Amino acid sequence: MLKVNKEQEPDFLLDYKKKHTHKSWKDYNKDDIRNKIKENILLVEQEEYCPYCEKRIYTNDDGHIEHIKPRDFYPKEFQDYNNILVSCNEKNSCGIYKKNNYDDKFINPVIDNPNDYFYYSIASGER
Ligand SMILES: [Zn+2]
Repeated sequence: MLKVNKEQEPDFLLDYKKKHTHKSWKDYNKDDIRNKIKENILLVEQEEYCPYCEKRIYTNDDGHIEHIKPRDFYPKEFQDYNNILVSCNEKNSCGIYKKNNYDDKFINPVIDNPNDYFYYSIASGER
C-alpha cells in the first residue's frame, strides 16, 4: 500500500464545481471531467501507481475513480477532493473489490502512512 500525498485541489476542478451544480457523483459527467480528474491524480499525486496494490496504472482506462469513504454511505463527501483516489481495475482487489466497505479501521492512504501498518522484508520475504 502506498501513501498518497494530496496536492491542492486543481483549478480545473474548482472551476467545474463553480460552473455546474451537482447533487451526486452522477452529475460529474460534463467536460470530460472524470478523465481530467483521473489523469491529474494519477500523474501528480500517485505517479501512476494504484495506492492499494502498488500496481502500475498506465492509462486512464486502467484505473477508476475511487471514493475512499464510499459515496453510498458518505454522500456529503462525494466531491471532497481528499476522498478521491485512482484505483486499478482489478476485480478481486483494490477499489472495485472494496466497493462500499469502509470503517474506522480502514487504512486511508491519504491520512495514514501505510508504512506504519505493514512491514515486509525484501531480503527474506518476511511479513
Ligand atoms: Zn490496485
